Amino acid sequence: MTPWPGLRRSKFNPMNLNIPKLVDDAKELKIKNYPQHVNRASSIGHPCDRYLVYCRTRWQDKKMHDVGLQRVFDLGNLYERAVMDDLREAGLYVEEQQTPFFDERYKLSGHIDGKLPIDGQRPPLEIKSMAPFTWEKINNWQDFLRAKQAYLRSYPYQLTTYLFLHDEPYGIMLLKNKVSGQLKQIIIPKDQGLIDEILQKCGRINTHVEQNTLPDPIKWEDGVCGQCGYLHICYPGRDFGPGIELLDDEELEAMLDKRESLAASAKEYKEIDETVKIAFKERPCVLIGAWEITGKWVEKKDSKHWRSRIIRKPPETPQDAMASELAPTHEAEGEIPPSEATESQGPDVGEALTKLAAKGWPLAKIEVRFGKKAKDWGSTELSMLADMIAEEN
Ligand code: SF4
Repeated sequence: MTPWPGLRRSKFNPMNLNIPKLVDDAKELKIKNYPQHVNRASSIGHPCDRYLVYCRTRWQDKKMHDVGLQRVFDLGNLYERAVMDDLREAGLYVEEQQTPFFDERYKLSGHIDGKLPIDGQRPPLEIKSMAPFTWEKINNWQDFLRAKQAYLRSYPYQLTTYLFLHDEPYGIMLLKNKVSGQLKQIIIPKDQGLIDEILQKCGRINTHVEQNTLPDPIKWEDGVCGQCGYLHICYPGRDFGPGIELLDDEELEAMLDKRESLAASAKEYKEIDETVKIAFKERPCVLIGAWEITGKWVEKKDSKHWRSRIIRKPPETPQDAMASELAPTHEAEGEIPPSEATESQGPDVGEALTKLAAKGWPLAKIEVRFGKKAKDWGSTELSMLADMIAEEN
């Protein structure tokens, strides 16, 4: 079917075609609230009982995610299919793919990505895709439980639910690096402590649902309550601590708006920066295009890490020098190059930049985050700098 019903071929103007919008519109149609009458394995690790009760009793009131997050979910499904293809190519045949299960006692449902028959056993398999930085950090199942992000902490609960219901001694979590495509396997053993937690949680939720009551809200957590689809009906109390101040300042408010609008670029910078650093780890000197990347091990009291320095190669001829006059200034990692901003805006700015560089925010990275070279910074950027200092302290 044509995506432009009624459009006559002779009148077609390609300038009116907007493929990304058509794709996003199709994705938006998939964002729907579905009734939920039982506990789900995929969310049973959520840290808030109140959220899990709302999922059963007020599912229709949940504020749904936007099309941006839907793109991420769709990509996750794509990666999962790619992993299945990789396994098949390697002669590993996954059985019972997407098999649903339900346990009446605990009103607990879910479906496994599959089971991998190995040596007489059939461990459940769960596939997750991750950004490179997260992928690097997870190396055993306890790393999930220690993670800052609530969604990562919930993964072992999901697989443990399958281990309990299928009575298997262990499961396999396959993690796909979203950039390199590399796989990492994490064995999740059947842990009685986690099983008890899951079953007790199901019991509490079921009781609240039957009695039409609600558990208390959890202590406010930005990464949980701040992103909760039930925030608008929950009103969890927030303790802002002593000294709270109500401020009416339009300029500052505008800066906060601007700060939010830059967040996506900052996130993209961070992801690329992390990927680049991983790519050049333990490579002391690499020349690539216009870039020179050097690195060395830096030892601290009880740890050591690889520090990369990324600079534009200096010009080799007078002609190159003239061209480089017109090119952006050099970028350095781990060092602050002397800059006009530092000199012209007083010693406080210099001190702030030194502090931020020590925290992993060299000048070049800050310029990307602010979307401006330091020489063009004004009061907005200086306030953002102060904000960053406060965040890092
Ligand atoms: S807003 Fe916080 S306390 Fe309320 S349901 Fe969501 S996660 Fe729980």
